[in-house]
Amino acid sequence: MYEPVIGLEVHAQLKTRTKAFCGCSVEFGAGANTQTCPVCLGFPGSLPVLNEKVMECGIKTALALACEVQAFTKFDRKHYFYPDLPKSYQISQYDLPLALSGFLEIEVNGARKSIGIKRVHLEEDAGKLIHEPDCSLVDYNRAGVPLLEIVSEPHLNSPDEAYAYLVSLKAILKYLGVCDCDMEKGSLRCDANISLRKKGTSGLGTKTELKNMNSFKSVKDALAYEIKRQGEILASGKAVAQETRLWDDSAAKTSVMRTKEEAMDYRYFPEPDLPPFSLSAQMIKALKDALPELPEALKARLISAYGLSDYDVGILAADKALADYFESCVKLYHKTKAIANWIIGPLSRELNTRNLTIESLGLSAQEFILLLKAVEEGKVSALSAKDVLAEMLNTGKSAHDIISEKDLGQVSDAGELEKIVTEALSQNEKSVEAYRAGKSNALMFLVGQVMRLSKGKANPKTAQEILKQKLSG
Ligand SMILES: [Zn+2]
Repeated sequence: MYEPVIGLEVHAQLKTRTKAFCGCSVEFGAGANTQTCPVCLGFPGSLPVLNEKVMECGIKTALALACEVQAFTKFDRKHYFYPDLPKSYQISQYDLPLALSGFLEIEVNGARKSIGIKRVHLEEDAGKLIHEPDCSLVDYNRAGVPLLEIVSEPHLNSPDEAYAYLVSLKAILKYLGVCDCDMEKGSLRCDANISLRKKGTSGLGTKTELKNMNSFKSVKDALAYEIKRQGEILASGKAVAQETRLWDDSAAKTSVMRTKEEAMDYRYFPEPDLPPFSLSAQMIKALKDALPELPEALKARLISAYGLSDYDVGILAADKALADYFESCVKLYHKTKAIANWIIGPLSRELNTRNLTIESLGLSAQEFILLLKAVEEGKVSALSAKDVLAEMLNTGKSAHDIISEKDLGQVSDAGELEKIVTEALSQNEKSVEAYRAGKSNALMFLVGQVMRLSKGKANPKTAQEILKQKLSG
């Protein structure tokens, strides 16, 4: 049996107003080549100047990943020729990166694992090619945009672990506010390297590098494909070739981009136009002291303050805004578990189907809590309340107005419920017999029938009590 050994390289676009080495805007979606200047177009004689904010974002991220920020760091030129690279080199960091040796905690199926971070370094992005049927165009707006490259140790042993690593890393970047992590806009990108080795051994097999994955799911799928492909090669007694492979999402497979023989020689050398940087311990400490609460700390606090489960806080803390929303709700209403259940359940479902974030949903915590109180006080059934929530989001009306307009008020009146129960019993004689013969799960079926007959309006608790009375009578 083989075991996969996986390392990830993540490129995060740093959330600054201007580019890494010039004053051009980084705003997404502007007209092609409108955000360029002699520096980011690589005109002779132009000189780069580091954007202070870029260094700050890099240090903050490195500290949040428990890395050792280096007191002395420098930039290097990484040379290669490609039409989207105006200078024919990229300003990057080679032998003296910004930070080294940190770690990131992940959790897969309840098991925690610490994944080593090898290095964190700063670099600039290239431009973008746009391929038309009869020509190719280039847009240099992205050239010079600041990137942070975060390289993990090969400590990941399954596609699920790789996925969990990306989710955790994304949460940290979002909490820090250093990256908007929008994969569709390319502000978070991931390459992977993967090899297989015999389970129980510690050596490393020949690895392939995977590129062109556009979502966390693609990373997971590409790794799973590669594990199968390499496994088949090894099982047939052949050797895996060291190469870079491109993932094709629609074909769901990888194919060769370049082989080891075609590997690039980047001819790195120190960037002569930028002086090396000495980072004072004082500056690093000041940034460390100012770090916001990070996901792990928030999870621990949510568990101890509100008695939530690991599962609950895992979902809430994965999105800082969702956790903030939860805490706003808790200030308004004391039933913390009910609030967590509703945010994780019905509210998250609405977010997913509408493809919205909690910030863009436009539902105030006040309005949401009024709906929850209506459920808890028995004014509307939990079932109907889900429809009320959808209606609130569609129309912007309050929970109270929708419940009274649609006549969704929950039926808790014993007399009215008895009629419905009697009808349900007469329609389902077989279940009645089964219940009386000792099949207790027939009761839940009958409760379901009462709910159906009342169009979701019956108070399920009262309905169940009346059912039990009638069945034992
Ligand atoms: Zn520029």
